[in-house]
Amino acid sequence: MIKHPEELVSGLVDGKRALVVGVANKRSIAWAIARRLDAEGARVALTFQGERVLDDVTKLAASLTNGPVPVVPMDVQDEAQMDAAVASVAESLGGIDILVHAVAFARADDLGGRFIGTSPEGFHLALDISAFSLAALAQRVEPHMQAAGGGSIVTLSYLAAERAVPGYNVMGIAKSTLESIVRYLAWDMGEHAVRVNALSAGPVRTLAARGIPGFGDMADMAAKKSPLRREIDADEVADAALFLCSSLSRAVTGETLHVDAGYHAMGLGLRRPRQIWKSGAPPLSRSASVTASIACPAASPAARHTSPIAARPGG
Ligand code: NAD
Repeated sequence: MIKHPEELVSGLVDGKRALVVGVANKRSIAWAIARRLDAEGARVALTFQGERVLDDVTKLAASLTNGPVPVVPMDVQDEAQMDAAVASVAESLGGIDILVHAVAFARADDLGGRFIGTSPEGFHLALDISAFSLAALAQRVEPHMQAAGGGSIVTLSYLAAERAVPGYNVMGIAKSTLESIVRYLAWDMGEHAVRVNALSAGPVRTLAARGIPGFGDMADMAAKKSPLRREIDADEVADAALFLCSSLSRAVTGETLHVDAGYHAMGLGLRRPRQIWKSGAPPLSRSASVTASIACPAASPAARHTSPIAARPGG
């Protein structure tokens, strides 16, 4: 029987000091990562955004083993709060080696519907909170990581950075920007042995995910289409985060690692080529049919649902 990774490895981040930003509740991906880092020997500090989540975050912090766990307020739109949070965590933990950034926000009006209707304010807000905040935090932790002789920064992205995902809209643009920021930070900070990477996670049922219209359908479809034919969970993202935070990934930076059961690797994701043939004219040959559906995906019945160009008579 295959053992759970927790049984196979231990102490991968022993003694490291980790600032984890983005815990709202026990379902947060950031919480799964915080628990995993704690279990592997790191000292963790948590932030919270707004008093309404303070109780939850404080209770979660108390359940970690390598306490006491600093819990500090941080709204990434508040420069002074970011300054104070990073300074206070560095003082409490005696430095910072790891930063986990798991923060995203867009107005409900800007998710769902058509991207073309995004307002300038909604655009700036989503990109500020979901993308620029990574750079803003990197600026603040850099001196601490430099003093420690290096560090690791991990952020959370999604496939909509690379592909158009209807409904994800402005958040997709924010994730593209985030992944680009990862590459620029990797260059800037690499000279001080600080590595910067992203995890592109498949759908995980969290608070933020609930704000995305049609999220349940996205998750179901990903589970059907992905090579592993299943959903992923936050613990699996946390295991990959552990890898990126530990010296096992010491030569990895500027990378976006997909943790999505392989969904990103798929094209049409049909179980059998036969499904392409069923409702169309019989193919000349098996290989010719598959080639045609890949070269001209809108021609296949399955692709009609996801192609940007709606089928029109004579079109
Ligand atoms: P979550 O709601 O638990 O976490 C989102 C966090 O962002 C919350 O803790 C919230 O407080 C924080 N946040 C929002 N605005 C903020 C602000 N102004 N200042 C500080 N913090 C702020 O949901 P999650 O799914 O765990 O999201 C974490 C990250 O993972 C996000 O970047 C999300 O886009 C990404 N992600 C999630 C999924 C998924 O399916 N859940 C998939 C891929 C990537």
